[in-house]
Amino acid sequence: AAKEKGRNQFHIFDPGLDAHRRQRRNQLMEISRALENEEFELYFQPQLRLDDSEVIGFEALIRWNHPDKGLLGPGEFLPAVANSHLEIPLGQWVLKEAIHQMNLWHEADESLAVSINISAPHLMDRSFADYLESYLHSHPDVRPGQITLEVLESTALEDTKRASNVLARCQSLGLQVALDDFGTGFSSLTYLRTLPVDVIKIDQSFVRNMLTDASDRAIVESVIFLAQRFDHPVLAEGVETMEHARALRDMGCNLIQGYGIARPMQAKALLPWLAQWRDQVSRHHSLGKHEQTS
Ligand code: C2E
Ligand code: MG
Ligand code: MG
Ligand code: MG
Repeated sequence: AAKEKGRNQFHIFDPGLDAHRRQRRNQLMEISRALENEEFELYFQPQLRLDDSEVIGFEALIRWNHPDKGLLGPGEFLPAVANSHLEIPLGQWVLKEAIHQMNLWHEADESLAVSINISAPHLMDRSFADYLESYLHSHPDVRPGQITLEVLESTALEDTKRASNVLARCQSLGLQVALDDFGTGFSSLTYLRTLPVDVIKIDQSFVRNMLTDASDRAIVESVIFLAQRFDHPVLAEGVETMEHARALRDMGCNLIQGYGIARPMQAKALLPWLAQWRDQVSRHHSLGKHEQTS
């Protein structure tokens, strides 16, 4: 009865909240339908090794081909999904689809990895690691070493101890773990100390202005230094120009990702893009050698 009274009070004092709830419920119904109708699609953005410009893999980024609104980015629907009953089903879809796509590339090149964003509730779901284990067991053609789980440092991880256990189990299955958007949370250093991670991703908000903003540059340099001290490869996100790429290489950064290399692309564009990229790189290198010897 107290609960009912509480609800009535909402009607009296905050009709806006009710409208907001109704709107979210409708949005979730639409997303559920979209999942059934296969309106979601993964785009892929290359991740590059700075040493030799070799593409090491691709990050999967979700998009929604909305029947009326066109192509929607995750910022337009993931907030509604967060903490809803759809968060785990959608996360499962992403996981399966990303691995499926990777296996298609592996017919051309087995070295290519896939990076998959995992939401904190999905990661912390009781059956997450069990599911991965049985999935890998029933798909012996999938190479776990080529799968990276990207975990947001900010959300990861209210229950840091459990998160550590889950991530350690994923690592024992052969997967890699990346700490995404590093530096944006409240406890970056604590996470760095307690979570089992392989790769650190410097958030793009620090990278964007690092050529002109001395504090951003200092942060980027410090994160690279820190990552090196912890023996973690470090990936800079949001690399929009070659000037950024060169500066990052000079700072000792290992990996980059950003519009300066390529925007996220549809799966079918990935192998053609890769062939073109490699062709350019090898021509550039052989040109360099030619110049040196002549
Ligand atoms: P994120 O994981 O940090 O991904 C990087 C975001 O930066 C992507 O935005 C990417 O398109 C964008 N980006 C890449 N290079 C550049 C650049 O040079 N400049 C700029 N300005 N932006 C760049 P997107 O695809 O809109 O994704 C936003 C966020 O949504 C992701 O951030 C990730 O946290 C989340 N997300 C995306 N896909 C998934 C998914 O499948 N599952 C989950 N749980 N989260 C996802
Ligand atoms: Mg990510
Ligand atoms: Mg990020
Ligand atoms: Mg982000």
